[in-house]
Amino acid sequence: MRTVLALLAGLALLLHPAAAPADGPQATYVLRVPAPIGDSAQRLLGLGYDVVEQRDGTDLFVIGDAHTADRLRADGFQSTVETRTPPSPWAPRSVGDATYYGGYHTVTAHLAHLDEVAAKHPDLATVVDYGDSWRKTQGDGGHDLKAICITRKSPGDCALTPTAPKPRLFVMGQLHAREITTGDMAWRFIDDLVASDLTAMLDTVEVWVVPIANPDGVDIVESGGDTPVLHRKNAQGTCSAGPRGVDLNRNAGSHWGEAGSSSNKCSEVYRGPRADSEVETQALQALWRNLYRDTRAPGDTASATPDTTGVVISMHSYGNYVLFPWGWSTQKTGNDAALRKIANDMAAQSGYRAGQPGELLYNAAGATDDWVYDDLGVPSFVWEIGASSGSCGGFLPLYSCQRDVHWPKVRSMLISAMKATHKPY
Ligand SMILES: [Zn+2]
Repeated sequence: MRTVLALLAGLALLLHPAAAPADGPQATYVLRVPAPIGDSAQRLLGLGYDVVEQRDGTDLFVIGDAHTADRLRADGFQSTVETRTPPSPWAPRSVGDATYYGGYHTVTAHLAHLDEVAAKHPDLATVVDYGDSWRKTQGDGGHDLKAICITRKSPGDCALTPTAPKPRLFVMGQLHAREITTGDMAWRFIDDLVASDLTAMLDTVEVWVVPIANPDGVDIVESGGDTPVLHRKNAQGTCSAGPRGVDLNRNAGSHWGEAGSSSNKCSEVYRGPRADSEVETQALQALWRNLYRDTRAPGDTASATPDTTGVVISMHSYGNYVLFPWGWSTQKTGNDAALRKIANDMAAQSGYRAGQPGELLYNAAGATDDWVYDDLGVPSFVWEIGASSGSCGGFLPLYSCQRDVHWPKVRSMLISAMKATHKPY
């Protein structure tokens, strides 16, 4: 049985500019690597390979170039070529500065969209600037970090205080820049919240959406135009032989530096020089602390109190999973039964599988969902949206897949998440 990462073939330029040799772009390979859950999978991650967030039985998948199979062999791993994507010429953006790759919205368009929705629906929506991206802090381009709060506004709603009256659902996309499905899901959610049957739910729930949590990274992705660059990390730092940046889903200060992350700056799972080192991480954490009460004592086994409200979703791709803490190990949280039930309810809407990362994929420490639950006690989930194969699978689905395939499933899961905010435990 083959779980082919077919979408990578024939679609992606897959060109990391920092990795390209002087003589031009190289072909990109997806390699199937036997690495069962446990020591083998953790060692593969620890060595800094670009491991896709997807598993097929005992196999994981590694993105690399013509030399990656040799490196794997030297490190004691077998591999077979799953797909090989030849280099293709640089392509222009589809339509001006608004979209790329058949309709995906640029960072600039996403930020403008938030302002447009708020201007058109002042009774429902408020835009909040919660920080600056790394490049903006350096005066070198970059973007404001922006969220939109959407609810049927009453006094106290959308205030940056954890004691606001309504329970809160927080949803973010593109923390991993190349997971372009997730930004599009955020866009559609915002539009539906202000103009569909979902609006009625806003009487009792407050929704916060960050469509692009890593705008510097997405700038790199969209710089490839109709052949997006598969950049995962932010844009901080340098690397002479690989992609620059810090993996914002390994940087958070909950068991930071442990399993499934790397100290190698060139690794796709580079965790940064210290816990919470990145401005994008710090800004998200400050925002979450302003939105949610802390209902959980420190430590790995404490339970959050039964009066906890709210849910936090970090959207990723791909693999069709609903994941919940802990991710740093398969140890159970103090709220395991409730988290598992909420995850199963979400998964029942979409046909996804639910479990801890280490149960379904591999252990990974320093993820934002672990941090949210660890620091605040709020139930937090990662959705790995989309299959690994087919024209709607992989990192770069055809744009039409968003409306026709992914959105109906994600919309149902979002409704499930909104309902869970009232009394998750
Ligand atoms: Zn991801």
